[in-house]
Amino acid sequence: MKIPFNNFRKQYFSIKKEIDTAIKEVLNKGWYILGESVEAFEEEFADYCGVKYGVGVASGTDALCLALQACDVGTGDEVITVPNTAVPTVAAISMAGATPVFVDVDIETYNMDPGRLKELLISRRKSNSNKIKAIIPVHLYGHPADMDPILDIAKQFNLKVIEDACQAHGAIYHSEKNPYPGSYKAGSMGDLGCFSFYPTKNLGCYGDGGMVVTNNRELAAKVRVLRNLGQTDRQKYEHRYKGVNSRLDEIQAAILRVKLKYLDQWNESRRRIAHEYLYGIDHSDMMLHKEAPWAKSCYHLFVLRSSRREQLKQYLFKNGIATLVHYPIPIHLQTAYEDYVESQISYENSEKLAKEILSIPLYPELDSSQVDYIINNINNM
Ligand SMILES: *Cc1c(COP(=O)(O)O)cnc(C)c1O
Repeated sequence: MKIPFNNFRKQYFSIKKEIDTAIKEVLNKGWYILGESVEAFEEEFADYCGVKYGVGVASGTDALCLALQACDVGTGDEVITVPNTAVPTVAAISMAGATPVFVDVDIETYNMDPGRLKELLISRRKSNSNKIKAIIPVHLYGHPADMDPILDIAKQFNLKVIEDACQAHGAIYHSEKNPYPGSYKAGSMGDLGCFSFYPTKNLGCYGDGGMVVTNNRELAAKVRVLRNLGQTDRQKYEHRYKGVNSRLDEIQAAILRVKLKYLDQWNESRRRIAHEYLYGIDHSDMMLHKEAPWAKSCYHLFVLRSSRREQLKQYLFKNGIATLVHYPIPIHLQTAYEDYVESQISYENSEKLAKEILSIPLYPELDSSQVDYIINNINNM
């Protein structure tokens, strides 16, 4: 048996008629940038996230960068995020002209450790050198970061929170927050939430795309202007801000409108398969990433931990099972970002995870014989 890491063709063929019709409609209308499909999808995706506004942009990286700029974060400012993330989280901070400051992750959730976040902010306040303006928690692998304490700390230190929800379309966080305890979708809890529609994501288009979502009317309006070279939709050729060209196109929006209808169903399939892995994988050498009691992951990835990661990877490869490592080098150890590393802070958990993690195939199109094959192979190593 050969099991690829992803299977985009299989998903496309399962909804081919609807997708082809949607693309053809855009071609027939003859309007390709910022039109009816983008507007409709912005509304539908904001609705899905449980927020008021959505602004379509060219990628998840741009979504993060524009969200920072909308919060007036730029040159001379610092932004806290984690080293255990995809590079775009940090690239977006640099693109905005700001400096990333890393705080380590929790070894159970693999996401931002609120305790370490608070420690860092207290030590910064003491040293009187505080240029920190915002926090970007990442909902890595589709598992939400622990938002209640992060939002509390942000409030206490007067910082903006921009969620990197690029891997977390439809993930849910059960909040105990007073006065509004309840379940919140990833991306809806901070000042702004950022999504990517890169093809591998739980909701992916057939190219690049992204969105910023928010309940804040002014921030939404500002992102809307910044994404289109600083002009408003109504006052063309009047530029109040220095914006960029970062627009979602009509064809991608039309594709995403079709696919959004299937997102919950696809996420449920991912969860079902993830649970089969959680119950089926039984090997003394493997540690599994369990859901926190306050989380409903959308399982963008299924990530194992093993002290013999390289051996496991080779073994699965020989048996036809594709795997990847998300991500092999924590950002603070990347050459491009080494200038930002503060030597007195420890990133032991991110470093440990980077050595031990391995992502195995997880997508709605996997069938049960493939899932069983993967489980049996792992258990027999
Ligand atoms: C994919 C991803 C991004 C960026 O998305 P692009 O659309 O590729 O720019 C940002 N952060 C995380 C965690 C991601 O997984």
